[in-house]
Amino acid sequence: MKAATRLLHYEACPGDSHRPTSTPIYQSATFEQEDALHSGAYDYCRSGNPTRSVLEEQLADLEGAARALALSSGMAALSAVTRLVPHGGRILAGDDLYGGTWRLLSQVTAALGVRIQYVDTTDLKAVSAELAQGADLLLLETPTNPRLQISDLGALATLCRAHSCLLAVDNSMMSPLRQQPLALGADLVVHSATKFLGGHADLSAGVIAVADPAVGERLAFFQNAEGNALAPFDSWLLLRGLKTLAVRLRAQEMNAAAVVDLLSSHSAVHALAWPGLLQGEAARIHAAQASGPGTLICFQTGDLQRSAQVVQALRCFPTTVSFGSVSSTASLPCRMSHASLPEEVRRARRLPEDLIRLSIGIEDAQDLVEDLRTALDALEICRHVRVG
Ligand code: PLP
Repeated sequence: MKAATRLLHYEACPGDSHRPTSTPIYQSATFEQEDALHSGAYDYCRSGNPTRSVLEEQLADLEGAARALALSSGMAALSAVTRLVPHGGRILAGDDLYGGTWRLLSQVTAALGVRIQYVDTTDLKAVSAELAQGADLLLLETPTNPRLQISDLGALATLCRAHSCLLAVDNSMMSPLRQQPLALGADLVVHSATKFLGGHADLSAGVIAVADPAVGERLAFFQNAEGNALAPFDSWLLLRGLKTLAVRLRAQEMNAAAVVDLLSSHSAVHALAWPGLLQGEAARIHAAQASGPGTLICFQTGDLQRSAQVVQALRCFPTTVSFGSVSSTASLPCRMSHASLPEEVRRARRLPEDLIRLSIGIEDAQDLVEDLRTALDALEICRHVRVG
């Protein structure tokens, strides 16, 4: 069965004699044991919960993984992955990651005695040179957030394997329906399930999916030891959100194409970026490893105040961090999701202050287009009045 079907048809309630069609929320912290000497499948919610188990099975299936784990946030998932690297070890990380990932690596993981080196993962020679110096883990995003840079997952997986380095891909921007990093040779996939997987901006959750059961076992140990597993109700909410992932993505990408059509012809818009507009080698790589453009669009206006004016004028795009929800949102990454990067780091990464990021939802496409047109036209009118 295709993923869009498997999103809906899976074993929702293993072992339940009532045969409910929706997984029950096992809102219980403890589970009574049949006898005092032998533990059953569940004893304590932090260590395991039936609702979470169904979710984790479903996530493993969607990512083609040996095992998946559900955690309380994307950051909890990323933090657990860094635990695989021992004190004195070395992590290579993409140089255009989400700001919170940079903060975790630079200000938490580094303080625990792990060396962190940022590298342009679109440059295979640069990655190869760093791997030759020894590394335990390469962590990257493709497309990156928010600059939408593309890295070649298959080529990076081959390089990592040759150097016995784990490859972890943050797949939050694409979802398992658009990109399957494990099938391309990655060892781990991470998601902020707060984004597309949940899909309704009503849940904080993270996912790790792994190719090797032994790595899964180690991560499950951290999940239990550090107590960051996803709670039963949130597990249920994520299971429910997942059911509509295919239809949401399709509608969101169609709307994104309509919005891009407008933006690409508007004189107030500079440096428009969307994976569907990629050219050359980046376009070839993305088309080979992903089955869609996603729903994140970035552009500039040439000036921070002008960008702020556009974002504030929008009615269908609340000014909101995050992405992947059924509702469209707009943000200024340098002031919001990436504000944790110091200004000099943002400058070195060529993250322009006036960058606007749109996450496209499932509203009526015409409403989204008209809303943006009105906000951008107002900008042009102001410019002409000022020039006049
Ligand atoms: N990875 C990416 C690409 C993100 O954009 C984010 C959050 O915006 C995270 C990870 C962190 O996820 P969470 O906010 O669920 O902790």
